[in-house]
Amino acid sequence: MSSLPPSRLPIVRTVADLRAQVAAWRREGLRIGFVPTMGALHEGHLSLVRLAGTQADRVVASVFVNPTQFGPNEDFDAYPRDEARDADLLAGAGCHLLFAPTVAEMYPPGASTTVTVAGVSEPLDGRARPGHFAGVATVVTKLLNQCTPDVAVFGEKDFQQLAVIRRLVRDLDLPLEIVGGPTARADDGLALSSRNAYLTEAERAVAPHLNAALREILDKVRAGQPVEDAEQRAVADLLRAGFASVDYVEVRVPDTLDRLGPGAASGPVRVLGAARLGRTRLIDNIGD
Ligand code: AMP
Repeated sequence: MSSLPPSRLPIVRTVADLRAQVAAWRREGLRIGFVPTMGALHEGHLSLVRLAGTQADRVVASVFVNPTQFGPNEDFDAYPRDEARDADLLAGAGCHLLFAPTVAEMYPPGASTTVTVAGVSEPLDGRARPGHFAGVATVVTKLLNQCTPDVAVFGEKDFQQLAVIRRLVRDLDLPLEIVGGPTARADDGLALSSRNAYLTEAERAVAPHLNAALREILDKVRAGQPVEDAEQRAVADLLRAGFASVDYVEVRVPDTLDRLGPGAASGPVRVLGAARLGRTRLIDNIGD
């Protein structure tokens, strides 16, 4: 007995074809949801597609490995790409259309506009990866203008990215709702990430220490211990566990990502971390 072939997901590669399909749905009065990704999909991405499906009648996902958000020494060329697998997974999660443009479609010759978001994109990953959030803000602004969804879903896994996107949508009066989806994790706490594929077996065993370190900071801060002591201890713990370096582990105000003012640890906080394990850079964050 042969198994059923995977369901075929329609794929469009040009902005014109994407707009034509979205316009047809709109004429039917349908609400459009959008989930931008860089592919190499895992359960975290698929949870966002399912969440979008609860908020919209039609779900569009994009797969585009955006060159402008990678630094010169980062992993743009090595980033995993498998469109056929991604399309099957998206169809299974209830996606209706995949937008998979080429680099030339997204950045035709002469493209010279960059979106920069001051403030919230400056600390943390903004400092560790210069230019990264300008690349993200530019491509996300373009994707939102190309798809014109009613709602777009982004993961809390990239918490600073979500804050940057919320800010730019407000500042540029983009007419859509932004929804954040919770971080999907392995049983041992490691946040799912396309980059986990780079980890060796030994590194994979060490990787959950990042989430554990963030949890420990949150517990200590909630117990009234000084924030800086907790942060410094976490850095030492991560290095001892086998991380090559720690870009940051910090407690911040969730919306603005500002540092905590005196007494602010009693209000809502977010603990964010980024650290390198071999050639892989892992990020994670938690709140309560
Ligand atoms: P990426 O393909 O890494 O650019 O991610 C595409 C979207 O998926 C972004 O909104 C990410 O925040 C989100 N995402 C990535 N990993 C996870 C995860 N483990 N759980 C939930 N969302 C995620």
